[in-house]
Amino acid sequence: MVLIGGGILFGIFFTFLFCKKQGKLRVLMYHKVETRQQDFLTVTPGQLEEHLNYLQKEGFTFVSIAQYFSHRVLPKKAVLLTFDDAYLSTLGNAYPLLKQYDARATVFVPTAYAGKTSLWDIKSEPILSAEQLRNLDSTVFELGLHSHTHRHYGTVSNEFIQEDLQKNIQFFEDNHLLYSSAFAYPYGGRPKKRADRIKMQRILSRYGIKYAFRIGNGINRWPLSRPFEIQRIDIRGTDSLEEFTHKIKYPNKV
Ligand SMILES: [Zn+2]
Repeated sequence: MVLIGGGILFGIFFTFLFCKKQGKLRVLMYHKVETRQQDFLTVTPGQLEEHLNYLQKEGFTFVSIAQYFSHRVLPKKAVLLTFDDAYLSTLGNAYPLLKQYDARATVFVPTAYAGKTSLWDIKSEPILSAEQLRNLDSTVFELGLHSHTHRHYGTVSNEFIQEDLQKNIQFFEDNHLLYSSAFAYPYGGRPKKRADRIKMQRILSRYGIKYAFRIGNGINRWPLSRPFEIQRIDIRGTDSLEEFTHKIKYPNKV
């Protein structure tokens, strides 16, 4: 009896130790960084600097997918910065700040628009070309997939998804661009039904994608139990610094 009790106690202690070892990952989702604009998709360089300053002061480590995602252990306070859509002026505005704070960022590229403009947007803006993507400082930026045509994956057929991913990857290969095996769902969109989502995830896997990012505004436990459902915290230019810090501290309550 004593032995069994001891075993249970040891089990609880072991579980406690193991749980303590599990990490947490915060992923921030940015879109645009513009000097003369501030809205739910756009922060100013001043706001980005305040965010980086806060994260640094709070002891966060800026991680990248390439550096850490294959590891079992993450730094204690890990944060992944992501920028969707590869807007030309955004990366120009963000780069000096990211460099200054020794931060890393993942840029998700909708490849049909590279070197053109964001035609899916109401106000379309220039997107980096293949050459500009190649010239990005790889000590700061890594690239990821953001579909080819920027369509909501919850509203298109599996055949469409397959073809779209094929073109997305082909662009990187044709232009000799390195990318991490990660995908950000345009609009955070996935099929609503679980069975359809599983089918879609199988397609993503078939194309070598290991991680996929949605929105969700939550913290991810590490190691990731649902690597195709990684949650990102939606960072908005309309938020005050207080609201930003609240989102970082209590992401599920935003
Ligand atoms: Zn997008």
